[in-house]
This record gives sequence, structure tokens and C-alpha cells, in this order.
Amino acid sequence: MMKAGIRRMAALGVTLAVMLTASHPALAAEGRVNTDSLVLRKSASASSRALQTLGRGDKLDVRSESDGWYRVRYGKYTGYVMKKYVKVTGSVEKESSTEAASVRTLRRGSAGSAVRTLQRRLKELGYYDGSIDGDFGSETLGAVRAFQRSNGLSVDGAAGVKTLAALDSPSAVPAEKEPVTEKLQWFGSEGTIPKGAVFTVKDCATGKTFQAKRWSGANHLDAEPLTDEDAAVMKDVYGGAWSWRRRAILVRYGGRVYAASMNGMPHGTDTVGGNGFDGHFCIHFTGSKTHETDRVDGEHQNAVQTALKHTW
Ligand SMILES: [Zn+2]
Repeated sequence: MMKAGIRRMAALGVTLAVMLTASHPALAAEGRVNTDSLVLRKSASASSRALQTLGRGDKLDVRSESDGWYRVRYGKYTGYVMKKYVKVTGSVEKESSTEAASVRTLRRGSAGSAVRTLQRRLKELGYYDGSIDGDFGSETLGAVRAFQRSNGLSVDGAAGVKTLAALDSPSAVPAEKEPVTEKLQWFGSEGTIPKGAVFTVKDCATGKTFQAKRWSGANHLDAEPLTDEDAAVMKDVYGGAWSWRRRAILVRYGGRVYAASMNGMPHGTDTVGGNGFDGHFCIHFTGSKTHETDRVDGEHQNAVQTALKHTW
């Protein structure tokens, strides 16, 4: 009789708690300690600092659950207890382990020493050039995003548990420094990009890139787009029609970037078949000369000067 009464009350309690949880999801579930001694810890780890020791039957507000731990409120404390030692009435919201670890996510607008530490580390890795001021602004945001991109993380610009752990890791991938744009004095360095070499061309104005292959050239470098896709990009750079117009370009080869100028007209000898480019085009560097007239071409040199102001 007595036992049946308790069971009924307990059942009623569960119903009530479920109703409350359903209509007020922000409310915590009620938990009771079901072991003689239970340590309330600062974070969800057995090695975390103890805040308080709880006894059997102590009542807790259970806020959320993650990886075998409950985040609870007990008197003035908010902390973590091992889930298996608490009997909960009602349902508890599951949290991702990242939130449960109680690491503060640093994002745009965050400030303080944690942001300073973040900036210092991003600077060490070459992602951040700004000052270590502890203010998470647009520069820090850009650095976090670049770090995330290079380290295979989701690129959201917020430094949460995963990003902070990746930053702390000895295997954190540093920023790849883009090489400075160099002047290539053509005569005397004609073999810097040897015949047969494949290199990348970046059009300064559009930022578009394609691959090209050097076939020859003495007064300057003669090349062809490597494939039909490369030829299509090059044609697109020229607005869809081949042209002799000079364009400022960067040539990337062997980890270095050179200022150059190209024309966009297929002409003369064709050495790469099946690339949709009937002939070759010319690439000029500092001091290089044209084929027929054997003179330095002012327009090409102007374009080389323009290219020198660009970086990859
Ligand atoms: Zn040429």
C-alpha cells in the first residue's frame, strides 16, 4: 500500500517534469545524488578542480549532458558531476562535448587575455600581422579563418575548442608565405624557366590563373597554354577573343614569382597539340626583346612594371 503510493507519486513527478521540460525547455531537470560521496568539478574531467563534495540524496539542477557528465547547478556552484551517480527526473538537453569542456569560444567582439594568447599564437604561425591588443577584430577574424582553412577545420572565424586545440597542437600548419614578386632580368637569366618547363600564369587584373609550358624563345619566353582548359581560362582573361594586347601577369615557377607581360594571340610554331591554341604566345620579362624587330617593347615593359606592384 505504502509502496504503491510512492510509485504513484514518482510516476506523477515524472509526468510533471516531462510536461515542464516540454513546455519550458530552458528549465533544468532535477537530479539526486545516488552515491555516498560525489565530487562537483569545475569542468567535465575527473582531473578537474573539485568545487564541492555532495552526499547521497543531494538535489541538483541538471542543465545539460555530455560524454558521461552532467552540467549542474548546486547552490552557488555551477559545475560537472559524473552522470552515473545522479538519478535524473525529466529529460536533459544534450550538449556537444566542445561546449561541455567549458572552453570559451573566441569570436569577433571577444576581448581580453585569451584573445591576446590567440593573437600571439596566430602571429607565431604567420597568420596574424596585427598588434597583440586582445581585441578580436576583423584582422584577427581573417587570421582565424586563414588558419582554419589551412588546417582542415570548418571556416567560421570563431576560435572554439577544435580551433584552439589545433592552434596548440605541435602539428599546427603554419601560414604559407606567398613569395615576393621578383624582377627577372631576361638577358643572362633566359634559363631560369627552362625550355619544357610548366609554370603558372596569374593575370594581375582578373586574378585568374592557368598553366603554360615553355617551348622556346631567345629574345623572350615563348609558351603555350598546357591544356584546352588552360587555353579557355586565358581566352576568358582576354574577354573571349584572342588579342595582341599586353597584360600584366605573374609567372610562378619553382616556388618563385616573377613580374611579366603576355600577349594573347596564338601565332607561329605550335608544339602542344590538343590544347585549343593554334601556335604560341609571348611572355616578356624585364629587358626582353621582340622577335622580329629585336627591340625592347615599351608596352610589354609597362605591363611588367604593373606586375611588379602585384603579389601572388
Ligand atoms: Zn614570342
